[in-house]
Amino acid sequence: MVDHSPELAKLSDKVVWMGPLAGSEGGQIVKEGPYQEKKTTIKYKKEAKKLKPNVEIGKTSIYGKSYDSFSFPLKSMIWVHGETGSGKSSVFNTVLNELNYQMKGEYILDKVGDLKSLKFPPNKLESVLIVDANLNRYTSRSTVGSFTDLAKPLRRHYLNQPTSKALDLSEGHFSPNSELGRCSRCDGRGEEIIEMQYLEDVILPCEECKGKKLKEEYANISDGIMTVSEAYELPISKVFESISLTPKYRRILSYLKKLKLDYLSLSRNMTNLSGGEKQRIYLLSKLLIDSKDQLILIENLSFGLSERELFAILEFLNELVSVGKTIILIDHNPKFKAFCDWEVEFKSKGKINSSFIS
Ligand SMILES: [Zn+2]
Repeated sequence: MVDHSPELAKLSDKVVWMGPLAGSEGGQIVKEGPYQEKKTTIKYKKEAKKLKPNVEIGKTSIYGKSYDSFSFPLKSMIWVHGETGSGKSSVFNTVLNELNYQMKGEYILDKVGDLKSLKFPPNKLESVLIVDANLNRYTSRSTVGSFTDLAKPLRRHYLNQPTSKALDLSEGHFSPNSELGRCSRCDGRGEEIIEMQYLEDVILPCEECKGKKLKEEYANISDGIMTVSEAYELPISKVFESISLTPKYRRILSYLKKLKLDYLSLSRNMTNLSGGEKQRIYLLSKLLIDSKDQLILIENLSFGLSERELFAILEFLNELVSVGKTIILIDHNPKFKAFCDWEVEFKSKGKINSSFIS
């Protein structure tokens, strides 16, 4: 079993710890042997707030099942939990769908439930965002670099090198998505798929570009520290150490760090990221649309994250709350309680308790 859960580790005969960190900074066996209780001390100090619930949700009915009315405060961090199948997702999706309808006149999801009433202060809410676990929204050509937009300052940086100027290059010469720069053998995919009869396809690195995706003459242009293709392949944390960025890209980079994703490389395909990585990249791309009074619903954030990573991300989400956003976390992890201001607990038979976490 490959898992982060301490409950599963406790039940195992032998535990192998991989690390020490994620991505390129991991890959080693840190420790192996029987389970040992690890006492993690949460050093997080919640800001003391006075919160009054100002979103009031009347009784909800979904697929013939009825749920209690409840409330929660905007501009806070809300932890939603309860047994699997207790209706957490369906109720909150219905609420956010309805909020969006009342604000913008359109539904963002198929309508499945009915709300008896919904009250909220319209001057304190601007938009809603659902960060679900829909993992199939990326094409095989989206990479971390194209999706976060960080490939752009990288291309501009290399465009400013004397060699590029002498050759009169343009940004397209450094992009696998442009005919100017991409390897013509693999069309900038970096790999070749060999179809096998009766067997699974075999994927090999492209013979021409050796997986670099670009034509060799452009891939090898260097800024004196690294070449274009090295910059695409190295962890993002290393690449931008020596490249100056505009405030917009500095912000993207800092979000990437805070979401514990800067070990990824710009050339990494979105399709082969883990579910949790995709979810956080999607969250990041949506955070860049600057809307202060945003309500964000995130489901199963703890999926695939170590405790250390999870705490760092929860701290970051709290920073977002302090600038006016509302974060709703649907997650079973009891550690969330320490980071959240408000709790909504789903019990059996549609009962819902909502209360301040002191
Ligand atoms: Zn190629």
